[in-house]
Amino acid sequence: DTQDIKILLLENVNQSGRDILAAQGYQVEALKTSLPEDQLIEKIRQVHVIGIRSKTKLSERVLREAKNLIVVGCFCIGTNQVDLEYAARHGIAVFNSPFANSRSVAELVIAEIIALARQLGDRSNELHRGTWNKVSSKCWEIRGKTLGIIGYGHIGSQLSVLAEAMGMSVIYYDVLNLMALGTAKQMPTLSALLNDADFVTCHVPELPETKNLIGAAQFDQMKQGSYLINASRGTVVDIPALINASRNGKIAGAALDVYPSEPGGNGDYFTNDLNSWAEDLRSLKNIILTPHIGGSTEEAQRAIGVEVGEALVRYVNSGVTLGAVNLPEVNLRSLTMDEPNHARVIYIHHNVPGVLRKVNEILGDHNVDKQITDNKGDVAYLMADISSVHTGQIKEISDSLEALSSRIMTRILY
Ligand code: NAD
Repeated sequence: DTQDIKILLLENVNQSGRDILAAQGYQVEALKTSLPEDQLIEKIRQVHVIGIRSKTKLSERVLREAKNLIVVGCFCIGTNQVDLEYAARHGIAVFNSPFANSRSVAELVIAEIIALARQLGDRSNELHRGTWNKVSSKCWEIRGKTLGIIGYGHIGSQLSVLAEAMGMSVIYYDVLNLMALGTAKQMPTLSALLNDADFVTCHVPELPETKNLIGAAQFDQMKQGSYLINASRGTVVDIPALINASRNGKIAGAALDVYPSEPGGNGDYFTNDLNSWAEDLRSLKNIILTPHIGGSTEEAQRAIGVEVGEALVRYVNSGVTLGAVNLPEVNLRSLTMDEPNHARVIYIHHNVPGVLRKVNEILGDHNVDKQITDNKGDVAYLMADISSVHTGQIKEISDSLEALSSRIMTRILY
């Protein structure tokens, strides 16, 4: 019953997410902060669902105590704070919200393109210091300029549409062949993009292949007086090479939202000696430096609440794992799930030979309407809708499945 589901939400999860869960009739406890580990362990023992953001560490030590837990909702982008593998091996699904803030990032980049073209940061800083310095030399409209987008995914493609609306020509480079939006043009190579773009902006994931994707050789290939923007990941741009390209005038400006290393909280990070490059960056002209705020808007927070809230409801009520980061993504659409004498069997198990035969022996006395199974590494997820089953038989099915040595977790929804 939904009323029996106990949920703990930490770190002030957005109201949009809380509302979606409360509307299901679940018992929801929402706290404003994260918890010290001992208190977290005490609480996590009781709950079926936990919602966190980036500060709560769900290590093996914590998850080992979470005997009733079936799912974790990360109301954020990253999932490093959760031991994903341990969770998977114990049948605990983990969800997050990777794309809810795409629009916010794209809008920030649009702002930065204009700010760089007009040297807004420098003019504003000068006047803050009391100096009136009216300049038009090397200040430009963005209309008619070429924007080069590296990585044409959720953010890159959204940005493409916005930039064209302001009269820019868009070219992009991606490892995949992707359909162009509007009149944008895919370039065959990164070099071709760098040769042609007045503004270069990075929207690729953090991967071994994207480390220092923009380094000394790439700055050499850029147009004299062009601009670089990075709001993707700090490893993508080689910072010393950027500092060099800015000092020798190759680039006319840059905007950075992300850095090779970033602090866990707010404070005097760019003045401490740990970052050899921070002081150099601060000294450059026409460089916009922001503290990883690309996705930080009220709208994005709300969208994350909705996306993760809905994923949790779907998982709890129907076992669907679409969007799970650590389990195979399995979906079974059923028109009959709510009818009497129907049940949905979810059997999370180790991916070893012979399991399906044993499971089907157990389900064989009933009518299996639909069945699907998939695996991710050594964890497999089976979902079967069965009919002509009486509530009295549910326990027997469940006990038989639980008795198999392959078993990780069994849930039967009826
Ligand atoms: P996405 O996965 O939707 O798109 C990434 C694109 O990059 C894909 O089309 C992929 O094919 C392409 N790609 C991968 N490797 C490539 C390579 N070597 N060369 C060229 N293209 C390559 O991702 P997204 O949601 O658009 O996010 C893009 C980046 O922005 C990610 O690094 C993400 O972490 C970051 N991000 C930053 C913020 C912020 O606050 N600054 C917020 C959200 C996302």
